[in-house]
Amino acid sequence: MGGLRWPLASNESNEQELFPQGLRVVGKGEYRGLEFLEVDAKTIINKVPGPPRFGFQYTINAFRGCSHRCSYCFARPTHDYLGLNIADDFDTKIVVKRNAVERARAETSPAKWGGDLIAMGTNTDPYQAAEGKYRLTRGLLEVMVERANPVSILTKSSLVLRDMDVLEQLASRAKVRVDFSVGTVDEAVWKVTEPGTPHPMRRIESVAKLNAAGIRSGVLMGPVLPGISDSPEQLHATVKAAVQAGAVSVGHVPLHLGPGVRAHFIDWLASHRPDLLPMYDDLYSGSGRQADTGYRAWLGKQIGDLLWELGGPEPIRPEAPKPAPSKPKSPPTRQMALDFG
Ligand code: SF4
Repeated sequence: MGGLRWPLASNESNEQELFPQGLRVVGKGEYRGLEFLEVDAKTIINKVPGPPRFGFQYTINAFRGCSHRCSYCFARPTHDYLGLNIADDFDTKIVVKRNAVERARAETSPAKWGGDLIAMGTNTDPYQAAEGKYRLTRGLLEVMVERANPVSILTKSSLVLRDMDVLEQLASRAKVRVDFSVGTVDEAVWKVTEPGTPHPMRRIESVAKLNAAGIRSGVLMGPVLPGISDSPEQLHATVKAAVQAGAVSVGHVPLHLGPGVRAHFIDWLASHRPDLLPMYDDLYSGSGRQADTGYRAWLGKQIGDLLWELGGPEPIRPEAPKPAPSKPKSPPTRQMALDFG
């Protein structure tokens, strides 16, 4: 059976050939509303092109699409193939690489593999709902235990705690860390922007539990949404929660609007917060994918100051924009952040 060409996402430049076997599984019970499209991947470990930018060069994504349904998700364009769209289809039609564990075992055999760190969660959440059914992430971690291979995980789900036993085994043999993406602990914002994810405080509690078990765990405040989750009170509450949980690092990333995602997010904004459209026009002017440098510098300073004030770890400054920090063009207010329809 011929393979379908499947271009991978922005940080996965090569192509994989996949061989769909016609298996479309309709979710039932707790998986109602989801469809699982089971495929066999020809390869599962992806090499990120260029020098490592985030401390890893190899990734595994056992799923495509994500039932966490984040409005701003940068990975949505990965679903733009085979007639699947980047909106509802991305949220509900989840591609499952059902042979991920077998492939990982084969591709990490000592004869072929140098033992580099493998990152999970770079293009889809490895602990989204599908993982409850397929347990592929758990199987992948078991392979990493067999190989004593270092791993990093980025997730928005406390489901990772299910695999504490495997993570502890891995931590005794290799470096492992689990980071949680927590853009904000503001419940009103969470409900409208990440409707399929566990409550942000469940993630914060997971950070504490993992660190208590000896598994390094940090927080990535990502993305911070201008005018929605960046008021002084919201930033303070989120940094404070991360610090109190003992996060080994607290990074942050402002909203990034890449091709495809930009139109989807602006549509979402128009229906939820039309009052913010002019502000976003300013901050993401032209074809800009990133918020303007003044905003990024301002945000970095707010979070850095909070970490210092609250006794947190050294701030991570992923972008280090050059201009001196200045207030954003339209300073957000608390009222704006709570004013969802
Ligand atoms: S959890 Fe990550 S991959 Fe999933 S929808 Fe949200 S941003 Fe996208």
